[in-house]
Amino acid sequence: MHSYKRHTVTAALPYANGGLHIGHIAGCYLPADIYVRYLRSRGKDILFICGSDEHGVPITIRARKENCTPQEIVDKYHSLMKRTFEEFGIAFSIYSRTSSPVHHQTASDFFKKLYDKGVFTESVTEQYYDAKANQFLADRYITGTCPKCGNPNAYGDQCERCGTSLSPMDLINPVSTLSGEKPILKETKNWFLPLDKLQPQIEAYINSHDDWKPNVFGQCKSWLNQGLQPRAMTRDLDWGVKVPLKDAEGKVLYVWFDAPIGYISATKELTKDWEKYWKDKDTRLIHFIGKDNIVFHCIIFPSMLMCDGEYILPDNVPANEFLNLEGEKISTSRNWAVWVHEYLEDFPGKQDVLRYVLCANAPETKDNDFTWADFQTRNNSELVAILGNFVHRTNVLTKKYFDGKVPAALEYEKSDLILMEEMSRFPKKIGDAIEAFHFREALAELMNLARLGNKYLADNEPWKVYNTNPQRVQVVLNLSLQICANLSALMRPFMPFTSDKLCSLLNIAPLNWDAAGKADMLREGHQLGEPVMLFEKIEDFQIEKQIMKLHHTKVDNQPPVGATLAVARPQKPEIVFEDFEKMDIRVATITAAEKVQGADKLLKLTVNTGIDVRTVVSGIAKYHKPEDIVGKQVCLLVNLAPRKLKGIESQGMILMAENSDGKLIFVAPTDINAENGGIVK
Ligand SMILES: [Zn+2]
Repeated sequence: MHSYKRHTVTAALPYANGGLHIGHIAGCYLPADIYVRYLRSRGKDILFICGSDEHGVPITIRARKENCTPQEIVDKYHSLMKRTFEEFGIAFSIYSRTSSPVHHQTASDFFKKLYDKGVFTESVTEQYYDAKANQFLADRYITGTCPKCGNPNAYGDQCERCGTSLSPMDLINPVSTLSGEKPILKETKNWFLPLDKLQPQIEAYINSHDDWKPNVFGQCKSWLNQGLQPRAMTRDLDWGVKVPLKDAEGKVLYVWFDAPIGYISATKELTKDWEKYWKDKDTRLIHFIGKDNIVFHCIIFPSMLMCDGEYILPDNVPANEFLNLEGEKISTSRNWAVWVHEYLEDFPGKQDVLRYVLCANAPETKDNDFTWADFQTRNNSELVAILGNFVHRTNVLTKKYFDGKVPAALEYEKSDLILMEEMSRFPKKIGDAIEAFHFREALAELMNLARLGNKYLADNEPWKVYNTNPQRVQVVLNLSLQICANLSALMRPFMPFTSDKLCSLLNIAPLNWDAAGKADMLREGHQLGEPVMLFEKIEDFQIEKQIMKLHHTKVDNQPPVGATLAVARPQKPEIVFEDFEKMDIRVATITAAEKVQGADKLLKLTVNTGIDVRTVVSGIAKYHKPEDIVGKQVCLLVNLAPRKLKGIESQGMILMAENSDGKLIFVAPTDINAENGGIVK
């Protein structure tokens, strides 16, 4: 076994177009944090590197939707994620971002070096191009009909109706989402990493790591068995790291080329000594990731590092499977998720409860399920009833009998010696499990130490023995307090906030891992701090509230009948059916749209109502671009008295719904059989 002088640990760069949910945390950030905190506690030289991944097509599309620049999008989500990690206790050495100048320079230099070494192959291919928008159309910039299921709104990379993954060339009747025009084919040159030629080297590298987790090793083998294909490392896009070549105007590095280099640039940003963390053979490089990133970290990034020639290669890539939520896949687009920044608001000071539950239930070997009921049970019957209860009883009894001072242990019985022997084995048992990336097992062992303490107290019943044999109680409480001190050190990687609480309760500075296991961690006569509860019970109503919230904020939600939805405006006074019947609402199609001069909120729309073609002025310019809504079917109130807006007569009103953030969205027929002029009732 190679003995390493130092460690470089990375956690997957989260994509800066949303918040962090429990699936992200359970997938890679929490296990990485536990691993790093453990090694730090053993005095190892270790860097823990992460940052926001801020390039790629979804960010530019999100920016268009929200009507702002890509930079504004990544600024917003970078700061949200950075704050969430800090508050949740993920202790990165640095949390950087790929839009930083250091990163652009590093990624650009990396590409240039490989280019100069002749690593890339140049290849000209035909890609869809929007002549009006003057832009190549990467995956999501193009829609069309799915060749598999006939869905008219399939994307260039995937059909969301049938789940088939597509390439833009597969789409029938492709349309640019930028202009609504039919795209043309245009030749473009890109630079490819010849993974096919590199296959023998990669294969040798993977085969030398058959100690990797079976899910990771298995996925790598299956890629290799299919035969690796050359992969384009550049894209025709304007958002990203510019390709540093003369004939590469309008091209950026492929996001999966630049993102892993982000680990290197963040290290550079952190320390002048960065090279020894990336180039010295005595450094162990470990990437914590989710299972969707295995190919990038086990095959593509190592290939890039091999081609450079100066870098060490990842020694392990522990990837977790996925965490589901209440039996369903976590989904950002459907908002089926527990967002960590919201959890921190709803459960202030309870970071460790979620850390505990996500580790105890981590999807280490298969997909796993998070439920709020399980969250409550683990808090109430494990953290409160076992760990919290043991620590509290020990402290209260010490306060009661010995004024809060550690009593002297004068004479051990056989059962005490057995207890000490058992206690001494925990640091290694827990440490070995962490080093093998078996975090659930490690945490279960930690709880076994608390169970051992509870059993010791129950077997010895100091509250009964005190009157007849106070000396025996001294020994029992002394040893119980030693277990508490051990717990404070050994729980630290998993529950750092609770470890701090326990240290202040014991009135000690945090202890190192290697100090643990002994029965003399607290000296006789040492004054303890005030007894406080480490955990508190979580009540049914708190859990019900979370489950309601989950269902109410779900995008395709069906709230239970009779439920009160606190976010919506109160209902207006009751009306009779005849009032409703006076309104004539029809299905209509927007056939043209333009901005109204001198009014930044208004759009002038031409609408086919099925009865006639008329003009409607609508106050939606802040939320919708004219080019995005042409062709859209809407619901229109057609018998509203006409009125003039900015000199234009508006003949009707389009039905819109207001989102919780004030944005107006269309209330529109989703059935493709809806016909213009159809009465809405
Ligand atoms: Zn389809």
